[in-house]
Amino acid sequence: MNVPLFLRQACLSACALALLSVSANAADWSYPLPDKSLAPEVSICPLLYDKTWAYSVEIDDGPASTATFSADFFAQYRFTDAPPGVPGGKSMPVVGGAALFAYVIAANHSYLSPQTIRELLAKGWGITNHSYSHIGRSWGNPPEILTSEQIREELYWSQSIFAHDYGEGRAPTHFVYPNGYTGYAQLFGEFGLLSASHVGGPGGCNMLDEKTVLTSMPRAYLDEGPWSGKNNDTPLHQFPKDGPQPGHLQIDFTHGNNPDPESANQKRWKARMDHISARYGKDGDDTMWSAPVQSVIHYTLARRKASVAVKDGVLKVTLPDDAPGSPLTIRLEGIPEATQMPAPQGGALLYRKGTTVWITTPFLGKPGTAAPEPRIRRDFTGPAGTHEFASPVQMAGVQLYHIGKPEAETEVRILLTLADGTTQTLGPKILKAAWGNGNLLFPVLPHRAPLSVKKIEVSSARELKRMDVWVVGAADKPVAAK
Ligand SMILES: [Zn+2]
Repeated sequence: MNVPLFLRQACLSACALALLSVSANAADWSYPLPDKSLAPEVSICPLLYDKTWAYSVEIDDGPASTATFSADFFAQYRFTDAPPGVPGGKSMPVVGGAALFAYVIAANHSYLSPQTIRELLAKGWGITNHSYSHIGRSWGNPPEILTSEQIREELYWSQSIFAHDYGEGRAPTHFVYPNGYTGYAQLFGEFGLLSASHVGGPGGCNMLDEKTVLTSMPRAYLDEGPWSGKNNDTPLHQFPKDGPQPGHLQIDFTHGNNPDPESANQKRWKARMDHISARYGKDGDDTMWSAPVQSVIHYTLARRKASVAVKDGVLKVTLPDDAPGSPLTIRLEGIPEATQMPAPQGGALLYRKGTTVWITTPFLGKPGTAAPEPRIRRDFTGPAGTHEFASPVQMAGVQLYHIGKPEAETEVRILLTLADGTTQTLGPKILKAAWGNGNLLFPVLPHRAPLSVKKIEVSSARELKRMDVWVVGAADKPVAAK
């Protein structure tokens, strides 16, 4: 057992709390029917809005163009929040997820920044965990096989940072394997990760099939190189030939779209999306739901665990605590057309056709998953150098942002003066040109107890521009990411 004692204790108390609260905190939602004598047949729809299939795009590694181009490009293509064949639905954009690794966020102008990541989230996109530093590889000679300690460090820090900076304390549950390295899956349970995708088609799997392995979802690989290859050069490469079957989740994957409208890449994407949208979008049969992959997985798992019933004229939906959070679409059959059905409160949707009524609940439960324990927050961000704290902090680790390529490999150390007057060194880490700019991590957690630190000194290297100091504690007033 490699988990330090203080972590195991944190888990024990959290687990005990969860056990105590199972029945008390299940998410309930109810809707009183206008007539107590109504006894419709009630069921949870296979997908949100009772759509037939789901579409998502995943863009890996955080190129800036995800926010400056891709989100608006895909948003030209629309579906509605009404069930297929029911008019009057609200127009919704095709969206996807950004698979981010924390090392390169804001590394330079060609990567997403905290600001542009927030813009993406506001447009309905999601964040997918793609590790902290994109390490691990089962191919090559030699391969890069990670120890469970390395995987725990990668997942602890990436989940903590995503929860702190973008999730209001909640972390992603969907993962993309860096370099296709599936060794990460061994610790998914510890970090609340429920699903994962890798390179390689055909581009999807089925959400109605309980045997679908959610931690091994294939994606249609649509980078320009492979897509323009001799046998792949068709707009519908790795899209189901006979159209998507009921329950299909199509995941289209690229490392970025070309913003030049004259480029072969954009013409290819346009042909693909024109076809998908004309057939299955708002102006087609409207059978497509588009969402970040995580939302589709959450709906699927919530649907399997939720219960729904009509009793004494009240429709009641219950989502147990161990299910991920999601809205749910409920179908009621056998409501006479003459019966008035008032709009439900709290942002729920109601559509009807003939004697069928569809109600989509508000979001039930909690988004994402809890941030890892112990919780950490950014306490200080400023120039990489010397900093003295007003009173000792419980240090979890330090990120050093470096820019530019050193002339020679440079060792970087961080000298800590502890509250008791003794000193400790973090590192050394080698500053090299591997990824160019980025955020080098000097962790204390999760493998050691936090250090009580009163002063930090970073060894000088002109490439070091900024340091972010992370300390133990929940984020009441978090220092924002730069
Ligand atoms: Zn990647």
